[in-house]
Amino acid sequence: QAKTTGPGRYEFFDVALRERLQRRLRLEQDLRRAVLNEELWVAYQPVVELATGRTVGVEALLRWNQPVLGVISPVEFIPLAEESDLINKIGIQTLQTTTRDMAKRRRELGLDLQVAVNLSARQLDDPDLLVTVERALHRAMLPPEALCLEITETTLMRDPAGAAMKLQALRRLGVSLAIDDFGTGYASLAQLLRLPLDVLKIDQSFVRELGHSREAEGIVGGIVAMAHSVGLIVIAEGVETARQAKILRRLGCDQAQGYYFGRPESTKSWLPPAA
Ligand code: C2E
Ligand code: MG
Ligand code: MG
Ligand code: MG
Repeated sequence: QAKTTGPGRYEFFDVALRERLQRRLRLEQDLRRAVLNEELWVAYQPVVELATGRTVGVEALLRWNQPVLGVISPVEFIPLAEESDLINKIGIQTLQTTTRDMAKRRRELGLDLQVAVNLSARQLDDPDLLVTVERALHRAMLPPEALCLEITETTLMRDPAGAAMKLQALRRLGVSLAIDDFGTGYASLAQLLRLPLDVLKIDQSFVRELGHSREAEGIVGGIVAMAHSVGLIVIAEGVETARQAKILRRLGCDQAQGYYFGRPESTKSWLPPAA
């Protein structure tokens, strides 16, 4: 694409690339210290039942307050953690924190809220995952049905047969399971049917189009119908407007989350004045 291939041009690419690599290297080295220093924290975003407007749970979303660079997104640091053993430590800490926070919140409010926690590919491969989940629930005294584990479609489709077995084992603990970012991978209906899932989360890329394109409405409506036909609860992600929420309700979508209902926030502010 670069038609000018003079020396100045090369230098330009060089600088940009070098800066990106330097940032990455810096974050990689810094992440280990950050985990020890407890610079990682969990934000919670409400999940709302569309028919009633009631908050039925929250999704836990990791944040990193890097002292110099500011708040860093999990999109940037989870892949770095996945390249080392750090993801295991982060995963365990996250499960412990979120189950404890939710148990406390349920006691305070006297409500059967659920917390959803994202699992990465490496965590799903970890033979200790079952024990980690069971122990976290036990220590927090949180009933398993109050925990939902989210796994992306892409992760599940790497090895659908293997994933099915792992999900089966998790489900025996009594936790519920969600397929995350649905629509961004290539899962077929047949493959989906073979996975023991409870929840399907429609990726925000579809939700964003609602109200702009008839086609998107058709697709989302189709996903909802298909998911319901196999007994899944459907959650729409990334709902930013009243209009999107209204369309989703009309399409029969069960629950939703997004900036329209609430941004991810620290525990100090999360969760409903209740309905
Ligand atoms: P995800 O699980 O699909 O989470 C939804 C993402 O959408 C979150 O980004 C959330 O902040 C963002 N979001 C929520 N509502 C809206 C909205 O109305 N509009 C827009 N544009 N975005 C919205 P976030 O927090 O940056 O997390 C990104 C991804 O990082 C998550 O995607 C998840 O895959 C991963 N992640 C987050 N926390 C963890 C974790 O504890 N463990 C692992 N393994 N992955 C995590
Ligand atoms: Mg998620
Ligand atoms: Mg998602
Ligand atoms: Mg996502």
